[in-house]
Amino acid sequence: LVAFLLYLFYLVAPVGQLVQGFTQMQNGLAAVRRIREIEDLPTEEIGTLTDAPGTAPAGVSFQDVVFRYGEDRPVVHDGVSFDIPPRGLTALVGPSGAGKSTVFALLERFYEQQSGTITVDGRDVRDWPLPDLRAVLGYVEQDAPVLDGTLRENLVFAAPGVEETEVRRVLSLTRLDDLVARLPEGLETEVGHRGIMLSGGERQRVAIARALLRKPRVLLLDEATSQLDAVNEMRLREVVAEVAKETTVLVIAHRLSTVTSADRIVVMEGGGVRAVGTHGELLDEDDLYRELAATQFLLPT
Ligand code: ATP
Repeated sequence: LVAFLLYLFYLVAPVGQLVQGFTQMQNGLAAVRRIREIEDLPTEEIGTLTDAPGTAPAGVSFQDVVFRYGEDRPVVHDGVSFDIPPRGLTALVGPSGAGKSTVFALLERFYEQQSGTITVDGRDVRDWPLPDLRAVLGYVEQDAPVLDGTLRENLVFAAPGVEETEVRRVLSLTRLDDLVARLPEGLETEVGHRGIMLSGGERQRVAIARALLRKPRVLLLDEATSQLDAVNEMRLREVVAEVAKETTVLVIAHRLSTVTSADRIVVMEGGGVRAVGTHGELLDEDDLYRELAATQFLLPT
């Protein structure tokens, strides 16, 4: 019987591998198709990086935005409207699937809305040359990776030629100067998986610093969902508040400390904006927000 089972296993295993290989090939082909679609766009639709897209903080606005990811997919945004003035901290909150990440995807024009208008600095995102738009929007992903290399390389690889004084200013703004002082070779210390491991809080601040060195006019931050110790939690809150003094910050917030210090909170639910207000106002006025505050936000440990 054992021999028979072994025989069966040898017979079936390659089929599994074939199926797996086929799925990978399909994924690969889908990626190639998407690249082709982009390549096929006329150059004027992609545009080229023009002269400096400016450095002043930019406002962001959504007016009656309706969007679905595909013809046969359900509507994700159903008439979303909100206005974010230049500077300040705006937190996007809402249950999973409410459409928060889609706000970022539409702003960066990874997708185009079916109707309504999205503007950055008063200009329709469809009218921005894409490289300019992407340069204006600094995106910090959730749990952004630290790459193998020195801390300096991790910070400046996307901002070649940045002045040393600017690196120092951003290190201080993101409260990373303490870390640099502690590292054996300062900024030239190897970090990442072959070097010194950074904590979750430090990694998120390195990612913020990396984005800031590119001088974004709007910072899009998908806050890390990992627990931080009390000190790192406080530092992150201070850094986000400090950055919001010099640029427009839009954060998909997972932390109570972030929403309590936000200038405005946009509460999303089921593809719409349910309410906009401060933490205090929403606690008084919005049931869903009260529930989110009680159950969903990460509290300092
Ligand atoms: P979470 O907090 O879980 O990240 P979210 O509020 O950011 O949720 P979105 O990621 O914007 O929500 O997703 C909104 C809806 O759109 C969900 O129903 C999701 O399944 C769907 N969706 C998101 N991305 C895609 C995609 N690339 N293709 C198809 N549907 C998508």
